[in-house]
Amino acid sequence: MHVLHFVRSILRMSILVFSHPASLRHRPPAGHPERPERFEAMMTALAGHEVALRPAPEATDDDLRPCHPQAYLDRLARAAPAAEAIALDPDTWLSPGTLEAARRSAGAALAAVDAVMTGQVRRALVAARPPGHHALASRPMGFCLFGNVALAARRVIDRHGAERVAIVDFDVHHGNGTEALVESDPRILFCSTHQWPFWPGTGEASHEGPHGTVVNVPLPAGTEGPAFRAAVAERILPRLRAHRPDLVLISAGFDAHRADPLGGLALETEDFRWITREIAAIAQDHAQGRVVSCVEGGYDLAALRDGVGVHLAALGET
Ligand SMILES: [Zn+2]
Repeated sequence: MHVLHFVRSILRMSILVFSHPASLRHRPPAGHPERPERFEAMMTALAGHEVALRPAPEATDDDLRPCHPQAYLDRLARAAPAAEAIALDPDTWLSPGTLEAARRSAGAALAAVDAVMTGQVRRALVAARPPGHHALASRPMGFCLFGNVALAARRVIDRHGAERVAIVDFDVHHGNGTEALVESDPRILFCSTHQWPFWPGTGEASHEGPHGTVVNVPLPAGTEGPAFRAAVAERILPRLRAHRPDLVLISAGFDAHRADPLGGLALETEDFRWITREIAAIAQDHAQGRVVSCVEGGYDLAALRDGVGVHLAALGET
């Protein structure tokens, strides 16, 4: 085997992880669950896995405008504080380091998509904070400022010419922001499992979006692994397969774990390994193996660390 081909095949087996220490400089007030220690837990989870780290670039205004109007970007820039963090809403805070961290979270998702769609690697993980799946076009929400995964989906289609892309969001909260930002485009399938009824109040099974490309799977509080797996296998995996995506994006929230202080579902770490394997298998069949996963929630540090660990392991198996 030619040496260059050999090196390339090794790289294709490993997982690119996009990340940046700016994630530590987004600092909501003490006691806030979406805290810098979450980033340390993600980094701890990388140990022992075959990953290559890449610095997350800052998303530019041009990068963000496919989902967010310039007026929103300008409003956030004007609001950025010099010292004390300010509340954008009761959940979502802007500290002096927040905008850089949020732009790198979004930039990481975009860079990950670019790397996968240009054939540098088949699998990429975004290990960054703040998360993104609650952000609306012109409004921050639920710890989120920019719709990282929605932006990534748009990039797959707009820049890389993909015909179809799919998103699977297994965070305990409904990915209302992602849904709102992508549901008007029938090329983007959005599938979500989430506790319901629960914050943010959206995500009923009857909401299928204007093109029927939204698949919401609400789960009652206390749902355990077997019922979760059955619901995913019955309602999400067939739709994912039928969509034949060119790339699968994952909103990987680990707050559906039974130890999570915010969520009320009762998943185990092994359930995150299972769903990752199932998604990866479909990507293998239909998307040339291409998966980009973005860490969303997860507020018990040990459950977050272990969840990211099995997620990476499962992404690296195929
Ligand atoms: Zn969540």
